[in-house]
Amino acid sequence: MSVRFPVALVGAGPGDPDLLTQKAARLLRLADIVFHDALIYPAVLDLVGPRARRIAVGKRGGRASTPQWTIHEHLIRAACDGLRVVRLKGGDPFLFGRGGEECRALRAAGIPYDVVPGITSGQAAATYAGIPLTYRGVSQSVLFVTGRGANQSKPIDWAAAARGADTLVIYMGMESLEMICAALIQAGKSPSTPAIAVEWATVSQKEVAAPLQDLKRACASARLQSPAIIVIGEVVSLRDILAFHPALPTTLEARAISC
Ligand code: SAH
Repeated sequence: MSVRFPVALVGAGPGDPDLLTQKAARLLRLADIVFHDALIYPAVLDLVGPRARRIAVGKRGGRASTPQWTIHEHLIRAACDGLRVVRLKGGDPFLFGRGGEECRALRAAGIPYDVVPGITSGQAAATYAGIPLTYRGVSQSVLFVTGRGANQSKPIDWAAAARGADTLVIYMGMESLEMICAALIQAGKSPSTPAIAVEWATVSQKEVAAPLQDLKRACASARLQSPAIIVIGEVVSLRDILAFHPALPTTLEARAISC
């Protein structure tokens, strides 16, 4: 057999299946084989056609269940077998998703690919919490940053992050939350800066808000866990006036609006 279809790297969005793009849903329906991350919400996987094979190749908490090179091999082999291959990734494939590395591996093997953007969890978590990441006169800039540096030789420059944008959106930050908050305060962020952590955004969304100096303690006492997004900045306090009740997948059917 030979390659008949480009491998599709597809953004699954943050969890709520209604937030998938139409292109993503169509590719899932048509796929012969889907290699998916650990953080894909089950209702999104339900969109995969009944005859397709689904293979979990995810990582949790930085621990690889499948080494990255093995994922590349799987994609290449399935494409060479003439299958319609979808590589389904949480959020957006090109934002802390290793989508770039997978495209490079495909290119090196001469396999064509397609990339479908997804709504990233940082954006969705803020929106579902009623927080606009920018707001005229309050925040003019947003920084998406990972809380987990790829290696010791390139640690994250938290001082630059503290100064670099009005709003910070931190991915994979729960394990190092105490260090991150302390580093930002040391770099000049006010200890009273509004902050929030959002667990399982858009799905069973749980929110813990506190001033930056208390965020770690508040998250610990609420037993907030990964996956979670942390948003830090004055915009967080806008949720007091802008918060709404998002229709989460679990409540969508049951929800009725009473006026
Ligand atoms: N490519 C993904 C990010 C993958 S890194 C995206 O664009 O969203 C994994 C991190 O994303 C998690 O540690 C967590 O910080 C965040 N994350 C992913 N899904 C999430 C969700 N539903 N709710 C909160 N955080 C989430």
